[in-house]
Amino acid sequence: MEYDFTDQTVLVTGAGRGMGKAAAKKFAENGASVVVNDLDAEVAESTAAEIRASGADAVGIGADVSDEAEVAAMVETATDESGTIDVLLNNAGVGDAGPFLDEQYDDTFQLNLDVHLHGSLNCIREVVDGMVEQGYGKIVNTTSIHTKNAVGMSPAYDVGKFSLLGLTKSLALELGREGIRVNAVAPGWADTRMTDEFSDAVTQQILDNNPLGRFADPEDVANAMVFLASPASDYVNGHELRVDGGQVPIDSWRLDD
Ligand code: ADP
Repeated sequence: MEYDFTDQTVLVTGAGRGMGKAAAKKFAENGASVVVNDLDAEVAESTAAEIRASGADAVGIGADVSDEAEVAAMVETATDESGTIDVLLNNAGVGDAGPFLDEQYDDTFQLNLDVHLHGSLNCIREVVDGMVEQGYGKIVNTTSIHTKNAVGMSPAYDVGKFSLLGLTKSLALELGREGIRVNAVAPGWADTRMTDEFSDAVTQQILDNNPLGRFADPEDVANAMVFLASPASDYVNGHELRVDGGQVPIDSWRLDD
């Protein structure tokens, strides 16, 4: 019962692949009607089609979360049928970030803040009035292992995710009074597209420094996301739940080996 999302509409951003996709499917398995967003409209639609094939309700919407107008249009379409968004999972993310001295770093800072901070803010702004009106809602933000200790060699990503953690903690204080809980899931290194590009040496170092000796499966992370959106976590607010297998920091200066 505690994982029953019947009659609830859940918006998951960046849900075309990886952890967002796993979460969208898990919400649907537990009765939710799911709005599957991704920048890549094709993967958003294919995830939604997979969910519909399993008998649940889902709509796929291609939109860039960092674009206010696109987010407004997406939420309007999504709420036309179902009314309020009950759960928002801000999961859209970008992995491209290099060392500070990299000549590209200006653009990279902008991109990371645009997607992780402003993208999440845009979505929260569009759904929060409905949540306030009905007196409840859940917001879950995907932060990162990078918020435990900065990982280094990727300051733009570190800053993007730290800012999202700050937003989580601050909004939890204010919105908690409206019945809206705001929490974060901090995935460790997961088996997704983002980590595919790591060199063998880096991959080995991550595994050596992980007590469980493996990368996270997207489902490991999705379980925590669903928990934080469910009544099973009704007294959890402003919390960042690490799903990293107890990962010990790695020598980040070797990340570009
Ligand atoms: P992970 O699962 O490790 O977070 P992925 O790269 O597999 O990483 O998933 C992140 C998803 O977020 C991708 O499907 C990507 O297309 C999506 N995404 C990235 N930028 C945006 C954006 N601006 N708006 C919506 N979705 C985005």
